Amino acid sequence: MTSPADIAGQITLWTSVARQLAELTKSATELSAKRVSKETAAALADNLIELRSTILSLQAEHLALTREKANLEEIISKHDIWEEEKKAYFLKNIQNGLTVYAPRPIPDSIDAPHWLCPGCFSKKQKGIMVMVSLPVMAVREYRCAICQLQIKTHVTPGGQ
Ligand SMILES: [Zn+2]
Repeated sequence: MTSPADIAGQITLWTSVARQLAELTKSATELSAKRVSKETAAALADNLIELRSTILSLQAEHLALTREKANLEEIISKHDIWEEEKKAYFLKNIQNGLTVYAPRPIPDSIDAPHWLCPGCFSKKQKGIMVMVSLPVMAVREYRCAICQLQIKTHVTPGGQ
């Protein structure tokens, strides 16, 4: 994350670049008007090297900030998508306190009746509870496709 100190540091760097550019422009103007000593030329070269180093630092920071911005935009986008998707489900008590997330009833929905794993749901994942055994005494076993959580119940996603 970019802290206010990082941003203040960047502003300082940009101010420094602007100041150095102004000095170099002034020096270049003076150079064109007269011959300069070796010391002045060496000082000018040092200023150019320092300016180049500052610009490289700024480019690296700009790249890092661009990547961070893209990452944050992706996180926000995923969050928004999840916030919309989760509205389609509610926590359902299917049997004696055994809970799963079930789709809210939608007229004419073509989705197959299903349940989602409550643990995975809390991690913003849609872990579909898959039936993994044939009914034994009307009790079926379901397993989360993501975390492998298992539940046994006589209730089915489509009804009793
Ligand atoms: Zn799960």
